[in-house]
Amino acid sequence: MDVVVVGAGPTGLMLAGELGQSGVRTMVLERRPEPSGTAKAGGLAGQILQLLHYRGELAGFREASTGPAPPARFPFGGLHLDFTRLEDPPMGAMLLPQPQLEGLLAERAIERGVEVRRGHEAVGLRQDEDAVTVELRGPDGPDAVSARFLVGCDGGRSRIRELAGIPFPGTSFPEVERLASLTVPDAVTVLDDGGLEIAGTGRIPFGYTATERGVFACSGMGDTMGVYTAEVEETEYGDDVPMTVAELSASVTRVLGIDLPLGAPLRMTRFGYSAKQADTYRVGRVFLAGDAAHLFPAGGVAINAGMLDAANLAWKVAGSVQGWAPPGLLDTYSDERRAAAERTLLHTRAQVALRRGHGPGGDALRALFLELTADEQPLRRLGALMAGTDVGSSTSDAHPLVGSFATDRALRVDHEDPRFAGLLRGGHPVLLDLADRGHLRELADAWAGRVAVLGAAIDERPADALLIRPDACIAWAATVDEPDEAASSGLREALTTWFGAPTT
Ligand SMILES: Cc1cc2nc3c(=O)[nH]c(=O)nc-3n(C[C@H](O)[C@H](O)[C@H](O)COP(=O)(O)OP(=O)(O)OC[C@H]3O[C@@H](n4cnc5c(N)ncnc54)[C@H](O)[C@@H]3O)c2cc1C
Repeated sequence: MDVVVVGAGPTGLMLAGELGQSGVRTMVLERRPEPSGTAKAGGLAGQILQLLHYRGELAGFREASTGPAPPARFPFGGLHLDFTRLEDPPMGAMLLPQPQLEGLLAERAIERGVEVRRGHEAVGLRQDEDAVTVELRGPDGPDAVSARFLVGCDGGRSRIRELAGIPFPGTSFPEVERLASLTVPDAVTVLDDGGLEIAGTGRIPFGYTATERGVFACSGMGDTMGVYTAEVEETEYGDDVPMTVAELSASVTRVLGIDLPLGAPLRMTRFGYSAKQADTYRVGRVFLAGDAAHLFPAGGVAINAGMLDAANLAWKVAGSVQGWAPPGLLDTYSDERRAAAERTLLHTRAQVALRRGHGPGGDALRALFLELTADEQPLRRLGALMAGTDVGSSTSDAHPLVGSFATDRALRVDHEDPRFAGLLRGGHPVLLDLADRGHLRELADAWAGRVAVLGAAIDERPADALLIRPDACIAWAATVDEPDEAASSGLREALTTWFGAPTT
């Protein structure tokens, strides 16, 4: 076996599918005998959607989606950020509840030759210079599997992280969040602005209401209503303990001080928040990804981060298995994705302060924050942070796009430009020639079979050519009209740095 992935959540299954696509022999070990039906995330959001577009897979995910794309309005620290007034919102979402997402990712991985072994729990780990071995508890008793690499995608309480001895510092907040979508009972009327009118009680405004006991939010839409509470509570609920309507109702009463009539539940979840990050994502042959590597104290960003970890790691591991990876390539995974998680921790920690700030000071902070986001530039910056595309600035003197994601905005093309559906199909990097620079294409041909070459014309091109890695990160760019010699030398260096020695 080349790679063992521990954990069949979104991160592990995404990684397995990416590895399978590159021909890497991969096995997924999952301790649950059956896929979990627990409704956790409601869908995908952020840069992962753009990456799936480049893989040529977005349409397939859309087919599985459970509803039209929601408008680009997202919660942020007890506020709503409205990106709909921007022509090209930096952050978008797709409705695809986690059980369906995991089903789709599992199917995709299995089609690509990955073996998914359910009912197998990783309980031990050892590694040497040649291999890593994971000890298992399975339906037929103890077992062990060896591979060249192992990736712990086994969630926030990761056993692999513990066995590898990787510290996981940070904070857990004594706060419980409850979120439900319910039918609207007779005693409630949904108002045009999304607020609720309660017979005998009065009106509850749409959006967030901060009280001394916590935060309440509601949103009515047609014949459904969304209800959310957050309150300080020390109880640790297991992921498998379902929430009840009575529990939600009691929480609303504590936070808001009223009895809110609730209809039949359509979807209910309860969760808590932590802000933690593993000190390193790699120890020898063992890697961490997804919740095993980081936990963020705000919603809507974790699956995106985990799947982007997977996309970053997969091609680097494939390169090592296939023997072309340059020295140090595998170490860039931990550095790059830890830096990305730092950016996500920055905005999610800030959301905690916004959400938990009570009294006039908290109200003023939220009001000022909303005033600032009325301006386009701060709103864009926040959107890019939420989407995971703002991964910090490049420190080199290279082209400003180097080190950033190839977003539609960076490429200066329309959202989901159809010419780029499948740009990174098959998980290959691509040299995107935007100015008919034949000498650059010829040079990249020396990496044929490893690097694809594509030409395109863009009205206001951001660069003459871009070398885009399989995870949609820009590895190199030729400035507009850069002299041939300098451009060739830069491209050769970038190709060698990321994709090893030429094939021919
Ligand atoms: C109620 C709720 C709502 C959420 N809403 C959102 C949202 O809207 N958007 C969002 O992005 N995120 C959301 N999240 C977070 C999101 O669900 C997680 O970030 C995501 O599941 C992490 O994926 P993962 O694959 O890294 O880990 P997990 O999904 O935790 O998967 C880990 C897998 O590893 C398995 N495993 C664990 N230990 C072992 C072992 N020793 N051996 C073998 N297998 C093992 C587990 O059984 C599990 O299947 C929500 C979470 C909760 C609880």
